Amino acid sequence: MDNATEESFDVVVVGGGAAGLAGALTLVRARRSVLVIDSGSPRNAPAAHMHGYLGMDGESPAALSARGRAEVEGYGGRIRPGTAVAADRLSDGGFLVRCGDGSAVRGRRLLVATGLVDELPAVPGLRARWGKDVLHCPYCHGWEVRDEPVAVLADGPPAVHQAQMWRHWSAHTTLLAHTWRLGAEDRELAVALGIRVVEGEVTGLVVADDRLTGVTLAGGAAVECRALVVAPRFTARSGVLTSLGLPATDMVRDGHVIGRSVESDPATGATALRGVWVAGNVTAPLEKVSGAAAQGAQAGAAINADLIEAETRRALEAHRAGAAAAAGSAAGTVHG
Ligand SMILES: Cc1cc2nc3c(=O)[nH]c(=O)nc-3n(C[C@H](O)[C@H](O)[C@H](O)COP(=O)(O)OP(=O)(O)OC[C@H]3O[C@@H](n4cnc5c(N)ncnc54)[C@H](O)[C@@H]3O)c2cc1C
Repeated sequence: MDNATEESFDVVVVGGGAAGLAGALTLVRARRSVLVIDSGSPRNAPAAHMHGYLGMDGESPAALSARGRAEVEGYGGRIRPGTAVAADRLSDGGFLVRCGDGSAVRGRRLLVATGLVDELPAVPGLRARWGKDVLHCPYCHGWEVRDEPVAVLADGPPAVHQAQMWRHWSAHTTLLAHTWRLGAEDRELAVALGIRVVEGEVTGLVVADDRLTGVTLAGGAAVECRALVVAPRFTARSGVLTSLGLPATDMVRDGHVIGRSVESDPATGATALRGVWVAGNVTAPLEKVSGAAAQGAQAGAAINADLIEAETRRALEAHRAGAAAAAGSAAGTVHG
């Protein structure tokens, strides 16, 4: 494994979304050689517009990606299309990252920013509308459907909280009981906020002219809505980390498992594995683009600091060894 024929970088970044590119930008500006391996499907790719990202509100996710890539490449960073499938720890403490096409690269440090997969409720036709009018985050999409009929699909405990949130953006909010048994308190809250509750399992979506207009229920009734809100289960794309012995773990909110993520230090993204950092949705599923980018930048700075520390240690050892040798030879000259 350790034959050193592969290209080598100070840092290999796996995943080139907001988190990975922000980490890479920090590192290339810190004069580090950086390779970003990216399979090119950021989580928000199904959405036409990205909102709430200061300075780029309303731009497309692709525009952020193109601008971020150009900035990283402008400082000499490299971006390689592909999928990293596994990594091995090398005897020198670095890593060998293997890609799906059989290639491999070396990195002294590893930043994994692979994001997550949104596991969606199994309602026919729902996936095709994801990011268009099947939504989850009111801060990303709420403004665009303000005052319109919004329906929230209940298939677990987050639904009532979601209905309460979306009600803030639209007074025409309906809670579809679907497969979830609503409690008395949930129903009282709905009444208090003017949220209509509709019983019955949702069986499909009604779409006209590429716009959601409603959902159908078992039995054939339809409920009008312009947006359908769901609570995806967040599953970290953690294959590379798992191959190094760092699997994702359950993420619990209010006693309910909302997904799986990889644990890290919240300030730096350092993981339990020496030399491996994470950033963005792979470790923090609730972060939006700005939070993911901030985490990437923080991890980049932490990685650079770690490299500086290692280089300083080596320089000190070399200096001390040189000074000891010089002292030895001086002593030899005097007495020889
Ligand atoms: C439909 C939708 C709309 C959204 N809208 C907004 C919005 O308007 N505003 C907002 O702030 N947030 C929005 N978000 C949230 C936003 O998508 C995330 O916060 C953000 O994408 C997280 O960035 P990230 O870099 O952690 O992950 P990602 O953006 O998902 O990037 C991960 C990258 O890693 C790559 N990758 C994964 N595995 C590998 C691998 N093994 N090898 C190589 N590459 C790999 C992927 O292809 C991808 O390019 C939205 C989310 C969804 C689902």
